[in-house]
Amino acid sequence: MIILKHSAELQAYLHEKRRDGVSIGFVPTMGALHGGHISLLKASRKSCGLTICSIYVNELQFNNQEDYLKYPNLVDTDIMQLEEQDCDVLFLPGDKEIYPEDKDKDRVFDLGHLENVLEGKFRPGHFQGVCKVVARLLEIVQPHKMFLGRKDYQQTLVIRKLAGLLHNKVEIETIPTLRESNGLAMSSRNMRLSEEEREKAALLYKSLIQLSNKILNGTFGEINHELNSAKTSLQQAGFQPDYLEIANPENLLPIDGNYQSEDVVILVAAYLNDVRLIDNLHVAEGA
Ligand code: AMP
Repeated sequence: MIILKHSAELQAYLHEKRRDGVSIGFVPTMGALHGGHISLLKASRKSCGLTICSIYVNELQFNNQEDYLKYPNLVDTDIMQLEEQDCDVLFLPGDKEIYPEDKDKDRVFDLGHLENVLEGKFRPGHFQGVCKVVARLLEIVQPHKMFLGRKDYQQTLVIRKLAGLLHNKVEIETIPTLRESNGLAMSSRNMRLSEEEREKAALLYKSLIQLSNKILNGTFGEINHELNSAKTSLQQAGFQPDYLEIANPENLLPIDGNYQSEDVVILVAAYLNDVRLIDNLHVAEGA
């Protein structure tokens, strides 16, 4: 694996590969790699001639400074994992490569309502920050395909919208959420949980499964009642939920009243002590 820190070097390298007709797969990450990231890399290796992983902890997408400061930095073990996966290139840029000038931090993207619901509502500015870094990475890497995890469901929709706004033809492939054996969605933030908290954190997924099962077996009652009682159970178990909602999987508009369809996504975000966890389940797809 080659490790490049400068965008000019990476662009020169990729220019040659593109000229030789090699398809370029891209997996953007913030490092502290786990099984979820690895499944994205595997998908890229399977369908592209060359796989690039980037590791960059983008301060602009953290609406909470403490969360940013506590974000794990494990570059050495990340490099070992990437080598084990036969990743071709690791792009490890510094701030100046991503935001060469201060004005690059001021770009604004029109994300419509996607920016103001769910994660957007509870993490103001988060998706603008995500778009700034992804727009810049797309500009540098110009991949044929980009691989994103469904664990960050709303982010996948935001990035699709971004690609449209940029008229970028990158093909976006989304990969199912990888989970621990107890159902907890893998996340770099799980490193901040104790053993006991990790066990408890699996309750988030269990509550998604319970709601999904009710929808599938026709015992799901009035929406607000069902969601409020699931939230109360989470609170009683020690979580502080930001939201638990059922939405249209295409656009995340809320589902009101007596919905008829299994084609809905259930999304949750909750704090367990000071660690914020998110998860989701697309009922029709069971993942
Ligand atoms: P992050 O490093 O958290 O920014 O994540 C980088 C990419 O990995 C994003 O596309 C995430 O959605 C994806 N990802 C994170 N956790 C998981 C998981 N448990 N399963 C699958 N993909 C994931």
